[in-house]
Amino acid sequence: MLLRNRLLFRNLTSFLPSPSPPPKSVSFILSFNKRIAHSTHKLPESKPQVAASRATKQPMSERARFAKTVLFVPPGVDPEDVTDEIVLPGSNIVLGPYAGHSQIKEVEFVKSSGRVKDCPKDNRPEFAILGRSNVGKSSLINALVRKKEVALTSKKPGKTQLINHFLVNKSWYIVDLPGYGFAKASDTARTDWSSFTKGYFLNRETLVAVLLLIDASVPPQKIDLDCANWLGRNNIPMTFVFTKCDKMKASKGKRPDENIRDFQELIRENYKQHPPWIMTSSVTGLGRDELLLHLSQLRNYWDQ
Ligand code: GDP
Repeated sequence: MLLRNRLLFRNLTSFLPSPSPPPKSVSFILSFNKRIAHSTHKLPESKPQVAASRATKQPMSERARFAKTVLFVPPGVDPEDVTDEIVLPGSNIVLGPYAGHSQIKEVEFVKSSGRVKDCPKDNRPEFAILGRSNVGKSSLINALVRKKEVALTSKKPGKTQLINHFLVNKSWYIVDLPGYGFAKASDTARTDWSSFTKGYFLNRETLVAVLLLIDASVPPQKIDLDCANWLGRNNIPMTFVFTKCDKMKASKGKRPDENIRDFQELIRENYKQHPPWIMTSSVTGLGRDELLLHLSQLRNYWDQ
């Protein structure tokens, strides 16, 4: 079993108390106050003095219980200490001590790989970006790296079914994966996508987390729910990145925040601990810096 899976398994099997009404100090999340929790890919391991002091705290307070069941509380943060100020806006993500340098200074396309064993072997941490065709994946990658042409590489004919590695700041990778749910793809192409991409998820040791992109301007789609559930079942750490959150539907349909809530409701049965999620827009820049900060804390902890 991969190290990250072993750690995740330990985390998932820990006892999770039932939710309670939120205390006033964490009121920002009221619209998502159902039983959703966080998913960490690793547990804090090297804080003996913190662990000792926690052992004397009992029972868990209402505030800590709420934080643990609704928020993504990263390693190094005591749920008792969570306040509004350390939760990233438009997300359930608590900012912890591992967050650090997050801005992207340089990015270079490294290679396209047709098989997992052809991917770069330098042990740098990586984040895979995955989503339905047209979800806004290219736009998000370009917004993150602030370049127009980067993600276009993977849209070129012949590269759409490949794993594309982009090296950021010479230290970590953004991995552009094939989009799923192509309307025009044949059944055969879809099957190929499945085994190919699933192989990547299950075997890539340096995968820190999957960023699963979900279009917040439309109601939850079965194909996205299936994908989220498959990743969850296989203990692949993930963050839900909701795209197109600038698209307000006043007259018809639901607003992005309502679609996001519906999506969370539909998947929560499948998670003991709910993954981190964040709202973004490539048009307004919403969530960009926050997402980069989140990636920095996952990466820095992974690097330990
Ligand atoms: P991909 O197929 O997942 O790479 O999706 P693209 O990045 O090519 O985007 C698909 C369509 O959605 C394009 O028309 C984009 O202009 C549009 N789009 C992408 N991101 C956003 C967003 O944040 N807000 C809005 N309003 N439109 C977006």
